Amino acid sequence: MAIPLPNDVTTFQDNWRFCNHCYCLWWNGRPDNGACPSGNSPDGQHHGQGSWNFYLPANPGEAI
Ligand SMILES: [Zn+2]
Repeated sequence: MAIPLPNDVTTFQDNWRFCNHCYCLWWNGRPDNGACPSGNSPDGQHHGQGSWNFYLPANPGEAI
């Protein structure tokens, strides 16, 4: 199935997850998962048990 993308998307980043505590996406490429701002995480880190693996479309040429 072809997925429509805007013409200025030139790449994507793999390995994003949905956090069960703060309901945000975070990049799952760090060993500590990064700090979760929810206050409900038992260890202060994001947790994505059961999350899909999300791919983020991007255009690095538009970096600010
Ligand atoms: Zn979180």
